[in-house]
Amino acid sequence: MPERSEKLDTTIDLLIALQDLLQLKRDLTDNNYGELGFQTGDPIAIDKEIESLKSEIDPAIMRRYETIRRKYDRPLVPVRRGVCYGCFVKFPTARLAEMDDRDVPILCESCGRMLYQIP
Ligand SMILES: [Zn+2]
Repeated sequence: MPERSEKLDTTIDLLIALQDLLQLKRDLTDNNYGELGFQTGDPIAIDKEIESLKSEIDPAIMRRYETIRRKYDRPLVPVRRGVCYGCFVKFPTARLAEMDDRDVPILCESCGRMLYQIP
């Protein structure tokens, strides 16, 4: 297997962290954690961290992520054994090999989500 681009690895890590914080923000708004007795961090601090993550991600990739986010809550999903975890459609093997060679995440041809490979 070809070595995956280090730049892509970093981008994916940042995007996963960003997606977690965006989810946390939604949970805070939707579920009213305070009333449920959960202790949570300061929403302003969460927003600051979100901005900080965004500033470290390549602007073109970030724009693409935001575009997909208008359609899906989770624009970034894993692909495992050639199957997209956003829509569960199987990928052609050639596309998967291509994925490791690039500096930008590839998109699922079926649902349009951004993908990262897991073992
Ligand atoms: Zn998909």
